Amino acid sequence: MHIDYCAKHSIAIIGGGFAGALTALKLLDRAEVPLAITIIEPREELGRGVAYSTTEPVHLVNGPAEIFSLYPEEPDHLVRWLAENGAANGWQPPSDIAASSPPRYLYGTYVRDELNRAVREAHSLSTFRHVRSAAAKLISAPHKISITTTDGTMIEADEAVLALGVFQAELQKQEAAVASHFRFAANPWEPAALDRLVDCGELLLIGSSLSMVDAVAGMEARGYRGKYHVISRRGQFVEGRRAAEAARDFLADRPLPATARALLSAVKAERRAIATAGGDWQGLPLAIRPYVLPLWQAANDRERLRFGRHLRAFWDVTAHRSAPESNGTLQNVIAEGRLTHGAARLLGLVRRRDRIAATLRTRKGTEEQLFDGVIDCRGHQLHDWRRIRDPFVKSLLDGGEVHPHSTGFGIDATPEGDIISDEGRIHRNFSAIGHPLRGVAWESSSITEQRAQAIALAERILAKITPAVSVATTLRADALLKLFS
Ligand SMILES: Cc1cc2nc3c(=O)[nH]c(=O)nc-3n(C[C@H](O)[C@H](O)[C@H](O)COP(=O)(O)OP(=O)(O)OC[C@H]3O[C@@H](n4cnc5c(N)ncnc54)[C@H](O)[C@@H]3O)c2cc1C
Repeated sequence: MHIDYCAKHSIAIIGGGFAGALTALKLLDRAEVPLAITIIEPREELGRGVAYSTTEPVHLVNGPAEIFSLYPEEPDHLVRWLAENGAANGWQPPSDIAASSPPRYLYGTYVRDELNRAVREAHSLSTFRHVRSAAAKLISAPHKISITTTDGTMIEADEAVLALGVFQAELQKQEAAVASHFRFAANPWEPAALDRLVDCGELLLIGSSLSMVDAVAGMEARGYRGKYHVISRRGQFVEGRRAAEAARDFLADRPLPATARALLSAVKAERRAIATAGGDWQGLPLAIRPYVLPLWQAANDRERLRFGRHLRAFWDVTAHRSAPESNGTLQNVIAEGRLTHGAARLLGLVRRRDRIAATLRTRKGTEEQLFDGVIDCRGHQLHDWRRIRDPFVKSLLDGGEVHPHSTGFGIDATPEGDIISDEGRIHRNFSAIGHPLRGVAWESSSITEQRAQAIALAERILAKITPAVSVATTLRADALLKLFS
């Protein structure tokens, strides 16, 4: 099959998860000229991707509904949508919808339905197509991009957007021996794998962040009554989100810290000040967040890598907190004496008949412990494109269309998201959004960050083809800051 959209400006979006679907939505909503949009996505439904494909009602978005509207200009849009559509989709809306954290499957339905709405209301000559396949190969020329999918479909477009999301790491060697064990769950998002663990007495949960929260919520919903042993390398444990006000803008009136060490000491000092004043430290990440992009872009690679090595775990546990409802489940389990957590390094897992033996290194030494089942809750998000085995990623790298970012996170691109080729050429018709931009922007994965990126990207694309439309053409740090706030 050959699809050619020569008459209208044609845009191929590769990956129809959250970022890809939202980019299409923003293009369709804003375009005053006809567009031909093709989304290449193997999943049946657009807008869900990895995060919003879960079918478990206890897997919640990790913030209040009031911050996750798809339209920053209408902050209560999601809340109204939930009030009107929640019950019909199996969710009983609580009295305070704005403060509640809806299930992720429902959020995916919101994104999907809003994309459908944008398609219905688009310019009458615009076309929209979902090609249900995976991109296999891409060849770029200055005014044309050719994409071939795994089922042989060829798509030609004036430009392309890479919205591939994050890739899961291969199973690590410590886990290989139990990969096929019926009581080993490689992640907490496979309902069948959790079903097999319900009658266990002792579960090992590797990882203590948001994936662990999903695992506990999923097991509790199934009626599991056994114990959880949660381990993480540094012994940190996910925090529940409280309704804290943003802390004072403590980075505003000074030169931005240029090193990871200087940043840490500024943050520590502010945290002490907050504690002394009896405030809540949870306001701190809210004050830091608008500075993440300028801090990251001002830092050199040595400092970025230092941050990645030494501060990333602290930032993740501070910034990525669990929904209060999920945290409530966790706290109940702890109060019942059914969950322990501590610092330990997993050295290996081996089969012991129906059980699994874990070799753990703790501060006390190395020991083997027996468990009835194991859930890997590390998330295993692989950001280093050089290590991703996905054939399309490899083909993009091998063909020189993209180049790994110098930090090892994602790919090289301009601050606006235009991809830079292996030869250092800036593709003016090939951009990226979301996870591939981690090396360029660091925090590039949450709903609010991707919402800002999708708006800016759509406006940039439209500005190229409709110069009369007054839109920002440059995604500068200050423009992004406004969008992020
Ligand atoms: C479990 C989980 C929960 C999360 N919860 C939250 C939350 O509560 N709040 C929040 O702000 N953020 C959350 N996030 C962050 C999340 O990353 C973003 O919200 C968002 O879902 C990411 O969108 P994306 O489009 O980048 O990736 P995805 O939505 O995963 O989309 C990527 C898509 O690309 C497709 N694809 C891959 N390769 C190809 C190919 N070769 N050809 C065509 N298509 C391809 C995939 O099938 C996939 O659908 C969560 C993330 C995860 C993993």
